[in-house]
Amino acid sequence: MGMTYIPTTLSEALHLRAEKGARPLAGGSDLMVQSKRGIGLAPEFPYDVMIITGLSELRGIRTLDDGSVEIGALATPAEIAASDIVPWHVRQAAAGMGAIALRNTATIGGNIGNASPKGDLPQPLIMLDAEVVLASIHGSRRMKLDDFILGSKKTALGDDEIIRSVIIPPHGFTYLFYRKIGMRKANAISKLSLSAAATVKDGVILDFRAASGAAGPKVIRSHEAEDIIRGHMTEELPSIMDSFLEAWDGAISPHAMPLYRRNTTRRMLSYFLSAIHEGAAEGIISEEAE
Ligand SMILES: Cc1cc2nc3c(=O)[nH]c(=O)nc-3n(C[C@H](O)[C@H](O)[C@H](O)COP(=O)(O)OP(=O)(O)OC[C@H]3O[C@@H](n4cnc5c(N)ncnc54)[C@H](O)[C@@H]3O)c2cc1C
Repeated sequence: MGMTYIPTTLSEALHLRAEKGARPLAGGSDLMVQSKRGIGLAPEFPYDVMIITGLSELRGIRTLDDGSVEIGALATPAEIAASDIVPWHVRQAAAGMGAIALRNTATIGGNIGNASPKGDLPQPLIMLDAEVVLASIHGSRRMKLDDFILGSKKTALGDDEIIRSVIIPPHGFTYLFYRKIGMRKANAISKLSLSAAATVKDGVILDFRAASGAAGPKVIRSHEAEDIIRGHMTEELPSIMDSFLEAWDGAISPHAMPLYRRNTTRRMLSYFLSAIHEGAAEGIISEEAE
């Protein structure tokens, strides 16, 4: 059985990470479940762990000078959902995570660190080009979240590193779409989710992005497919829709997504783009029926 450490500063935690290889334990909602031994028994870990919830350096949600939003690794889904500076898609995903107790204990760092394809936060974050800030005793580095998550349960986290925060660059989207399809509304591990966004000015689609979650080993985003839409007039959408959907389909590995999920994703994407083509009012595009 491994040791449990409780560092009180980030510096102490980074030394424990580098010298003992201690694994961070934040909300514990993934780690405790993986290590449970039975009712009434405390979980046991075969490796050293450090409880990082006391690290104030990993807390808080703030706006940076360039307009980016930095979310500390210990921010909970409840804090994220309640923040008015966090981009809308990320608030939606946070608000739909688990039940209320989980939303108050889970953390964004744990959701990313766990790298489950069913995790709710990486999907909108990857659509928004978010970066992770990784700290070690040697300093810190930033990398795109899309590059950090390598696959199901695999990340590029170094043996001496801790996720310190997530940084979301600013954007000026005029149309927003988010949908999570789960078993039921509360406490549902995501079955399929989609974030999409577009910036339209004077009939020109200046920016368009989409990301699909719980659909394969990691979040699916296709820059190639997005480029088919970007720069076109909204009135051209019907003529480019098929090649866009084909490119999107091509981005999904053949066995990652059963046909019904593939079709549902295609339908949501065409719903969003059709709404823009038909001149929907700017803002959130929502669809009620599945
Ligand atoms: C009943 C239930 C319902 C759930 N529902 C959902 C849901 O709807 N949506 C969803 O996305 N998830 C859900 N989950 C999964 C889980 O709650 C989330 O993934 C959560 O965000 C994990 O955060 P945590 O702080 O509890 O992680 P932990 O269990 O503390 O850690 C998870 C992993 O991340 C690593 N880690 C944690 N913090 C850091 C850090 N700062 N730096 C580096 N590595 C770190 C840990 O070492 C571990 O490998 C559910 C879980 C349960 C038990």
